[in-house]
Amino acid sequence: MKVLKFGGTSVGTAKRMQALVDLINDGNPKIVVLSAMSGTTNHLVEIAASLFEHNNEKATALINQLENKYKEVIKELYKTVPCLNKAEELIKSHFDYLRMFTIDLFTVNEERTVLAQGELISTALFHYYLEEQNIDSVLLPALNFMRTDQNEEPDMKYIEMNCRTELAKYPNGKLFITQGYICRNSFGEIDNLKRGGSDYSATIIGAAVKAREIEIWTDIDGMHNNDPRIVENTHPISELSFDEAAELAYFGAKILHPTCILPAQMNNIPVRLLNTMQPSAKGTLISSKTTGDSIKAVAAKDGITAINIKSARMLLAYGFLRAVFEIFERYKTPIDMITTSEVAVSLTIDNTKNIDLIVNELKEFCSVEIDTDLTIVCIVGSFTAEKQGYAVSIFEALKNIPIRMISYGGSENNISILVDTKLKKDALVALNNGLF
Ligand code: ADP
Ligand code: ASP
Ligand code: MG
Repeated sequence: MKVLKFGGTSVGTAKRMQALVDLINDGNPKIVVLSAMSGTTNHLVEIAASLFEHNNEKATALINQLENKYKEVIKELYKTVPCLNKAEELIKSHFDYLRMFTIDLFTVNEERTVLAQGELISTALFHYYLEEQNIDSVLLPALNFMRTDQNEEPDMKYIEMNCRTELAKYPNGKLFITQGYICRNSFGEIDNLKRGGSDYSATIIGAAVKAREIEIWTDIDGMHNNDPRIVENTHPISELSFDEAAELAYFGAKILHPTCILPAQMNNIPVRLLNTMQPSAKGTLISSKTTGDSIKAVAAKDGITAINIKSARMLLAYGFLRAVFEIFERYKTPIDMITTSEVAVSLTIDNTKNIDLIVNELKEFCSVEIDTDLTIVCIVGSFTAEKQGYAVSIFEALKNIPIRMISYGGSENNISILVDTKLKKDALVALNNGLF
């Protein structure tokens, strides 16, 4: 069994959906995970924001606008009247449902339900299209098996058991279609795996069914050595280890959801990144294989806050860092980078939800300074301790960029540098010119 995930642009128009058939209709067993059509989730986010503001007029206008877009899509997608009628009914039912929220109470629970509509619609439309083409397929409802636990982590045991139960209902089924991104939470409510979460759905499902391979089909020919949205002349990397890919995803390479590598890595399932616009391109193979010492790629993660903690009590004392970390643990706030000196420790976070509470507690035993609007620039590769010269080439490239913090040696795959977000582009360009 293979798992193939197609992102928003890969299902973004009627033509793109039609083109998918050639990529999936080879008779081999597979689960196809689809995102919402591109733009849809952003549009649903806007609808939800208007509903939160009780601006029903705006919400209704946005709902109608999106509905009209889908009416055009289905006219182009289907050739036969019965399929078109079925799709019209489907669209009407989803959008009538959305319109209902303009008269009811609107909370975060309703918001999650609104956000789930994009994947529910794209998978149903594609399933009808396959039906029109006389291609047998099964639409698997992700809400019947995808679930997160109390820590908002995938509940792998539940998912594995329930995904297998769903698949077993169709012993002759070969082509399964399911929704990315959406899931239920530990209360059984509709929820999601955060933006870009369809990649995560694919690797979670791949792990659950012990897939042979997971393919992530998108609009670019694999993981590039730098962010192609910011830097010119980037190139695809043909092979990455799980560790390298996980660092790049976590530190901002948008092509992959930040935590989607882990389920594949834990089960040693290769992940291939491929381009729907150019299916013959080699793409990137992510596997347990390491491919020698080198600097492979650079990525950047914005929205970083640095917390600088100073205390004379740290001098020659033990237990100080534990006291600091316990506070972050209590407020479920992960720390990304950390550097220490004799009397100070600096660390970075991206989740600032509880920052005031954290700072208040820290201030009980140390002085605290906060620095916002920062970016972590992460240089990824294999940096074994015996090899020399990496730091020199990185800092030579960055010689004109003021650096706030450096983290080197924490892992063999990552050197992280903290800069002001205003200097992100300059840093990425400088690294591109200096390293590749
Ligand atoms: P999908 O809708 O298929 O999930 P995304 O937009 O989430 O696609 O991810 C693909 C995009 O990620 C690319 O179009 C590219 O602009 C962006 N991207 C950012 N960093 C990288 C990188 N290092 N390599 C490749 N693509 C990247
Ligand atoms: N549709 C969701 C989003 O736009 C999930 C995804 O595309 O991966 O975030
Ligand atoms: Mg994506």
